[in-house]
Parts: sequence; C-alpha cells; structure tokens
Amino acid sequence: MKLSNMLISTLREVPAEAEIPSHQLMLRAGMMRKMASGVYNFMPSGIRVLKKIENIVREEMDNTGAQEFLASALLPAELWMESGRWEAMGEEMFRLKDRNDRDFCLGPTHEEVFTDIARNEIKSYKQLPLNLYQIQTKYRDERRPRFGVMRSREFIMKDAYSFDKDQNGLDVSYMKMYEAYTNIFKKCSLDCSAVEADSGAMGGSGSAEFMVKSEVGEDEVVFCSCCNYAANMEKAPAISEYQAEETYLELKKTHTPEVRSVEELVKFFNATEKKFAKTLIYKADGKVIAVMVRGDRAVNEIKVINAIGGAIEFEMANVETVKNATSAEVGFAGPVGLKADILLVDEEVSKMYNFIIGANETGFHYENVNYGRDFTGKIGDFRNVTEGDKCPKCQGTLTIARGVEVGHIFKLGTKYSASMGATFIDENGEDKPLEMGCYGIGINRTMAAIIEQHHDENGITWPLAVAPYQAIVVPVVTKDEEQMRVAEELYCKLKQIGVEVLMDDRNERVGVKFKDSDLIGIPMRITVGKKISEGKVEFKLRTNSENEIISIENVVDRVKSEFAKNNLSL
Ligand code: ATP
Ligand code: MG
Repeated sequence: MKLSNMLISTLREVPAEAEIPSHQLMLRAGMMRKMASGVYNFMPSGIRVLKKIENIVREEMDNTGAQEFLASALLPAELWMESGRWEAMGEEMFRLKDRNDRDFCLGPTHEEVFTDIARNEIKSYKQLPLNLYQIQTKYRDERRPRFGVMRSREFIMKDAYSFDKDQNGLDVSYMKMYEAYTNIFKKCSLDCSAVEADSGAMGGSGSAEFMVKSEVGEDEVVFCSCCNYAANMEKAPAISEYQAEETYLELKKTHTPEVRSVEELVKFFNATEKKFAKTLIYKADGKVIAVMVRGDRAVNEIKVINAIGGAIEFEMANVETVKNATSAEVGFAGPVGLKADILLVDEEVSKMYNFIIGANETGFHYENVNYGRDFTGKIGDFRNVTEGDKCPKCQGTLTIARGVEVGHIFKLGTKYSASMGATFIDENGEDKPLEMGCYGIGINRTMAAIIEQHHDENGITWPLAVAPYQAIVVPVVTKDEEQMRVAEELYCKLKQIGVEVLMDDRNERVGVKFKDSDLIGIPMRITVGKKISEGKVEFKLRTNSENEIISIENVVDRVKSEFAKNNLSL
C-alpha cells in the first residue's frame, strides 16, 4: 500500500482524554477514533492488527479441534430469563425492544446461547466432546468504560464453549484451551501468566485468568519469586506469620483519647503495626459481619464473602451500623462485647500474643489481648497477601504486580446445562447434563495490552506477528526519480514475496516520514536515499537504534531473515 493512497492521519499531540500509553498511541497512530464513550471505530491500520490477532486465535483454536461458529448478537430475553441472568446482569446489559414490544438484549457473553444450541443439537455421547467457538462483537454497558479499548462497551471477543460427557472429559477440554491460550499470547509476544482465579459468580470448579503484567492493569497479581506460582489477589491464600510465644499478661483497658487509626495507635503506644489487630465491620445482605486482621494487613473481601457462604449485597458498614455494633464512635471497634452476627478472625490474629484492640468504647483500647481467653470467632484466611509473604507452594517469597486480564477460562460444570436442560444420552442410555467449560479472549484488549508492553517514546513497536504492516520503504526525496525508481522496485519485490509492505511516497520531509513510521510502529524500515549511487540503502529495525547499510540486492534476504528469526513464514 502506498501511503499517498491510504486513509491515515497521525496526531503529534497526546489526546487529552487518553490516560494510558496504548490508548494514546492507538489514537495518535490513527488506528482508531472515538464514536461515543467506550465505543470506537477502527481505521484501516487498526483493523489489520485486530485481524492478525483474530487469525492467531483462530489458528490455535482450530488446532485444538474446536469448530468456528457464529451466533447472533441480538438475543431474545427468554433465554436469559431461563438462566436467571436477565435480572442478574443488571445495568451491564444493553436491552432493547422490538416493534412488537418483545424484549431483547445485545449479548454481553453467550453461555445461554451455546447451552441452547447444545440442547438442540447434541443428543448422544457419540457427539462428544465438542468445542464451539466464535469471534464476535460483545456489548457491555460498563460502569466505567476507560482506557480506550481496554474497557469498552462494544468489543470483539473470542468465546468458546466445550461440551463433555463427564468431568474427566471437561478436564481434558480445559487443559487444551489452557495450552492454546498459552500459545496465543506467546505468538502475540505478550509476557503473560496464567493465574488461579476466583470463579465467583460464574460458579464451577476451576478457572484461570491470563494476565499481562502492566502498570496500567486494574488487577493485582501475586507471583512467587522462586517457583511458577501465580494467583489473582482475590484468590491467593495467605500464609500466616507466627509471632514468638509470650506468656499471657493481664487484660488492661487504656484511655486513648482521639487515637483511632492504626497510624495514631502506633505513635501512641510506641509499638509496631504488628502489635495491633483491627476490626472492620461490613454489612452483608442485612447481617453485620466483623472481620479481624493484624494492624498492617488488608481484609480480602472475596475471602470474607466466600466464608459467609456468599452475599448478594456486601459493603463496608455505614457509621450508623458501626456505632450500633460497637456502642462507640468509629475508630474503637474490637471483638470484646461487639454486637455482630458473625466475627471472622484472621488466623494470624488468633496466634498473636498480648496485642491491642479497640474496646468498643469511645476513647478506649484494650492491651494484652489474647485470642481464646478474651474472645473467640471463626478462624480462617481473611486477608490479602502482601509483598514478602511466603509462597503457598514453595519457600519462596511473593511479589505483587499489576496485570491486565486478556483471557479467562472456566470450568462451568453443569451450572447451565442442568438449569436449561441441556442433556445427552450416555453409554448406558441414561439422560445426563453436559459438562461445560467456557473460554474468552478480548481481541481489542489484547491489542491494547500488546502496545502497553511494546512501545517507546516515539510510538508503537509492534511485534512482527501482529504489525499492521511488516515493512516500509521510504524514499528520502520523492522528487528524485532514481530514488523513486529503486524504492518502487524494492516495494514491488517485497510485495511479491508476500511481505506486507508500505511505501511512503508522500511528498513530505523525510523527518516527518520517519516520525510517522515510528509512531505507527512498522517493524522494518528501508530508507532509499543518496547511497543508491553506491548500490546501498539503509535498513533499520524499529526496536534497534542502529541503521544497517546494506546493498540493494540484499534487502529481500535481510527482510526474510527477520521472518525466520520470529518463526514466521512468508
Ligand atoms: P473484567 O473483569 O476486566 O471486566 P470480565 O471478567 O468481565 O473482565 P470475561 O467475562 O471473562 O471478562 O470476558 C472475557 C474476556 O473479554 C476478558 O478476559 C477480556 O479480555 C475481555 N473483556 C471483558 N470485558 C471487556 C471490556 N469491557 N472491554 C474490552 N474487553 C473486555
Ligand atoms: Mg467485566
């Protein structure tokens, strides 16, 4: 493609609304434009990248034996009412009515649809296992669309649904997807880890999130510095740090006027945060839940919700509720004499000695408190892992990094098949619900994540496998006939062998041309200038600051060698 014919407009300024590099660069490089909040149009160069990612995904899915499908995006409400998600999806679902006043939605995900397809099409164990996937547009009215296509309201997802006759079959299908996902993200040059995830509202018995390490990530991921352990913060079990044994001292109530926060307590008592246990009060479906963790720890709300058997509404208690439960002002909560429906005590607290807690009385704390003697509760793991904690798998220490979730795989089991009657006849003639798995990848989010990991101060540095174009030929002076002739010849030769190549034939200064090709992130640049008189041109990799001077006849081989280096064929 010649740049003079291409619809491309690059921006020198950083658009004010874009906070993160991928969003800024996708706009600046002219890959997409905003239509509305969380809704984007993809420009010719942007769509090329999306298609490349889609094709990598398609190839890996096909390799596992999964079959491509295309379901509709416009879905009747009845299907969602059957599963109970018409209500549960709440405001995230885009809803609409047809001319006959029938309810529809724009699909945010397709478990119901594929369960419906399965119950109509699958009759016998002989048709199993089966995995159907699609690459299709999804709609979610996100509360906070942001960061461009990282969290948009319309996006392309690859979603796959597996159907097996039993749990062993599901395990196999799940592992196949796990491996395919690992290959996909590797081919996209993403530094990505599969982490154990909380399957939360989706139910089921196993789930992993594929997380790309990035500062702009919304999730926290826990990594071991020694082994390959990685887990979502929501799920990562915390290993208690035990304190040296002490003999129990006598419980003492101490006047602590205006001393409420752990920080203030540390000063007042001249002790470390580890000497305190804080009591946090939550409201879960109308019940008062108190949770105790050591002074320097944070409560893990997901663990708490799981421990109380789930909750539809869960939030920090308001001042009123705290005052009622503690009979004191906020800041003096403690387990002794607390009016709570459930008291959860982090295991670490139960192993502390002579510690300090709020006394449920304004202006007072207890000293020398000991679990068992002074109070009891339900002991468990209710805290977040922190940097430096022990790894649950080995003796290594844990670190915490931010990550972007690009893919997610779930074992659904019979959650949908049982409730929607998707059954099959097994070998013994019995009717059984299908064992299901579901597997998603955000295509646009993957594109943004690649940019987060592949950019520099001049623009995007696309990995060859997903670049919109792989090479660009830049004649320095467009008016120079000889330069244009050589450039045209190289352009045609590269095109002929299958390289996706651009030629910057615009009548622009060469500096402008370089800036644009760097911003758009073309991996290989061939500059045709004065040196053609010696039969030479410049070859430059986008990720390399050095120019190579090579002879014109070697350009094709040099380009080919980059394909070989990246395990890509031409
Ligand atoms: P998140 O927690 O980020 O909202 P999710 O758990 O809702 O993600 P899934 O329902 O598992 O996401 O969807 C599968 C994949 O679709 C995600 O891993 C992600 O890559 C992508 N995805 C989900 N929501 C969005 C969105 N609003 N914009 C872009 N991609 C998305
Ligand atoms: Mg979501």
